[in-house]
Amino acid sequence: MVRILIEEIEAYAKEHKVPIMLPDGISYLEQYIKKHHVKKILEIGTAIGYSAIRMASVSEDIEIITIERDEERYLKAIENIKISGYQNRIHVNLCDAMNFEIEEQFDLIFIDAAKSGYIKFFEKFDQNLKQGGTIISDNLNFHGFTKMETRIESKNLRQMVNKIRNYIQFLENNKNYQTTFLEIGDGIGVSVKL
Ligand code: SAH
Ligand code: MG
Repeated sequence: MVRILIEEIEAYAKEHKVPIMLPDGISYLEQYIKKHHVKKILEIGTAIGYSAIRMASVSEDIEIITIERDEERYLKAIENIKISGYQNRIHVNLCDAMNFEIEEQFDLIFIDAAKSGYIKFFEKFDQNLKQGGTIISDNLNFHGFTKMETRIESKNLRQMVNKIRNYIQFLENNKNYQTTFLEIGDGIGVSVKL
């Protein structure tokens, strides 16, 4: 049931250009959750619920709180999550992550939202991550642009790429975390809280 749903969401994402995680990236995330016995996850950027459903499918005792600011995607996520049967374990919030207040502690925080906000998201939710917990960030390669050495013509794209470069530097310099950068999917950062 869930497998068919996942294929349907992948097709929907392709058709409606929803930037869901790439296949290698999401498999890595699933394996990480399994290996480290992750139980409580905070996700920033639900989109249509694809990554949340896949993460929840790893084990029946996983609970996810996820945030999405776009109403249309939020509604689609609610619909998909209901079909998955995981509606008791995946809680979707229609909200800008920067205005989302929560006291709970998580084993894993998955940042996959607007690239311009990554440093702010990281700093804001650091207090909600257990010691030894992990922050995983998606799209650090940004389709290869992050590593491009020639000047990027489009101003918007250049600004976005610079934001990601700043974030990578921020992670490298953060002494409270040990970050590994992986060439998986669209580039993933795995930051373990020391
Ligand atoms: N994690 C999803 C894909 C997320 S795409 C998956 O792999 O299936 C990124 C999403 O983040 C978009 O839907 C966008 O609307 C949302 N987003 C961007 N900035 C946000 C913010 N500040 N707060 C909440 N959601 C945000
Ligand atoms: Mg992404």
